[in-house]
Amino acid sequence: MAVPKRKMSRSNTRARRSQWKTTAANTATCPQCKALKLQHTACPSCGAYNGRQYVEALRTEHEG
Ligand SMILES: [Zn+2]
Repeated sequence: MAVPKRKMSRSNTRARRSQWKTTAANTATCPQCKALKLQHTACPSCGAYNGRQYVEALRTEHEG
């Protein structure tokens, strides 16, 4: 495996790291209740995933 010959300067390290950026998480709409949810996760408002019921929904106060 290739090994760096010299220590990278702090300036170079910091210049490279200055380009690191975060991206917004991918969201999808639930096919059952149309709520916005994270992809590859059960829906937080109805608990459905892949056409099946997996978890009890998290009830919040405004949902009644
Ligand atoms: Zn849902």
